[in-house]
Amino acid sequence: LANENVVDGKCWRCDSQVIQKEVDQWFIKITDYANRLIWPEKPTVDWPIQVRVGQNNWIGKSEGLIINFSGIEVFTTRSETIDGASFLVLSPEHPFVIKMTTNDNLNKVKKYLNQSTQKTEMERKENKEKTGVFTGSYVKNPVTGKKIPVWVADYVLFGYGTGAIMAVPAEDERDRKFATKHNLPIIKTSLKAKPNGKKRSIYHLRDWSISRQRYWGTPVPVIHCPSCGIIPVPEKDLPVKLPYEVDFTPHGKPPLATNEKWLNVNCPKCGKPAKRDAETLDTFFDSSWYFLRYVNPKYNNGPFDTRRVAKLTPVDVYFGGAEHTLGHTLYARFFTKFFNDQKMLDYDEFALKRVQHGVVLGPDGNKMSKSKGNVVNPDIQVKEYGSDTVRLYLCFMMPYEGTGPWSDQTIAGVNRFLTRIWEIYQNYFVILRQAQDDKSVMVSSTNHDKNLETKLKKTIKKVTEDISNIKMNTAIAAMMEFLNDWERNPQGLLIESAKNFLQILAPFAPFLTEEIWRSIFGEKTSIHLSSWPKVEGEIFEEKMTIPVQVNGRLRSTIWMSSEKITNKKYVEEMALKEEKVKKYLTGKDYKIVYVPGKILNFVIN
Ligand SMILES: [Zn+2]
Ligand SMILES: [Zn+2]
Repeated sequence: LANENVVDGKCWRCDSQVIQKEVDQWFIKITDYANRLIWPEKPTVDWPIQVRVGQNNWIGKSEGLIINFSGIEVFTTRSETIDGASFLVLSPEHPFVIKMTTNDNLNKVKKYLNQSTQKTEMERKENKEKTGVFTGSYVKNPVTGKKIPVWVADYVLFGYGTGAIMAVPAEDERDRKFATKHNLPIIKTSLKAKPNGKKRSIYHLRDWSISRQRYWGTPVPVIHCPSCGIIPVPEKDLPVKLPYEVDFTPHGKPPLATNEKWLNVNCPKCGKPAKRDAETLDTFFDSSWYFLRYVNPKYNNGPFDTRRVAKLTPVDVYFGGAEHTLGHTLYARFFTKFFNDQKMLDYDEFALKRVQHGVVLGPDGNKMSKSKGNVVNPDIQVKEYGSDTVRLYLCFMMPYEGTGPWSDQTIAGVNRFLTRIWEIYQNYFVILRQAQDDKSVMVSSTNHDKNLETKLKKTIKKVTEDISNIKMNTAIAAMMEFLNDWERNPQGLLIESAKNFLQILAPFAPFLTEEIWRSIFGEKTSIHLSSWPKVEGEIFEEKMTIPVQVNGRLRSTIWMSSEKITNKKYVEEMALKEEKVKKYLTGKDYKIVYVPGKILNFVIN
């Protein structure tokens, strides 16, 4: 398993305890790209800050010095504290451990090395018991010249730095606990020490282990020959295909090794009998560059069609979840930089924009889980409301990036909205029939409502923009608002406009809109193949004036966009903002008489 697949010391898929064992494995040297994978302050592509910070922390660059303690190289980011270094700690895997151990400490040290192999990396890092043993040897602190003891402790990991640290218990919490437990000296530091050393940047990021003992995967394309060693499968024989006949029962070897016919081949170099590598590549290996293969999956002259890839990529917007921050998207960025170095790509970030979806929580606001009993099963929701409602609800319930609880009330409301859509178009059908009888293309010129048409244009514009900005929730809110207005005058839209509204709703409720499109408007081709309605130029907004009276005498005139005139409360508020009106009304009881679009009269009791 890769480091990224270990969660709390357990396998991320099956929860089995992860133990460490030394085996031969294939690695990708991603560490050579560590520095280039670090996001700059102002990147050229639009990726969320959480992803960039998360990846930078995972890569974990630290700059420091390599300092020589009597032949043992130590990496430190705090070289100014070296005069407080009171002992040295080697990781159990450090090649000098046995060499440094004196005879009377040998048994103790060997026992300790054995114990630490049983521990997971997590346990080692935590090192709750502050375990460790003395080797019996000393080295010289190059700044103070004092002899300091050399210990072995498994909280020092061999993969990080040089696998040896100088311990400064006066400054470092973990070193202090270790020193206290083992009665080691704690020496004050001047914080001004300037030791000699080589500058070095080290990274938390490790090389990427890509060997898996699984069946499903891409076979590692190499051949093991007893005489020639490891030989890559010749390019003309690629790709190596998975054999179908394998034995999956556990017997301590990978499934591919059970098919002798597949396994045994002749060495491409010397022709003598040899064996294929029976392991497969980590799935993340393939998912790191699939988007390059997808543009021409039948391409046979290489991993991907570089000409078509140059035309169609980089990816414009890459959607996905936050769980891909430290795995998939980091690997894909690495592959992109590698292909860029190979002159197979002319860019080095594969996606211009990254958008991460949020999480739908249970109705109680907690993460859905079987044990909490708060799981909402989408299949059941689809059965109850239909997939259009469920889809529309998911788009509407919160911003795409947001995380929030499932709401039974809101989905019921969304369902009512679609029912009202269905009904208004059914009524429209009746009107349409009458219009056809009249041999008229317009619904009815007397009912045609210019304000409603203007409102629709605005709605189309907003929905179009919101979709490009991945703001589905506000697009739907705008359509809901439009429906409210339309319902006040169901005959107010031209046929073309009624179809346009259906078209902008289509991506959100594909089945209902298709049904209406065909049954009401008699269309023969799908609404989803029709072209998106366009709103050109500025939307002309009609302004209207309304005279305002107090006790029948004209006191003021207010202006507003014509679509607002049906909103009595709004008109009233606008009038009350007028100083010339307000002064007659303060402290008085009055009632309001409003003739929409004509006159507003305040009558004082
Ligand atoms: Zn597992
Ligand atoms: Zn050979």
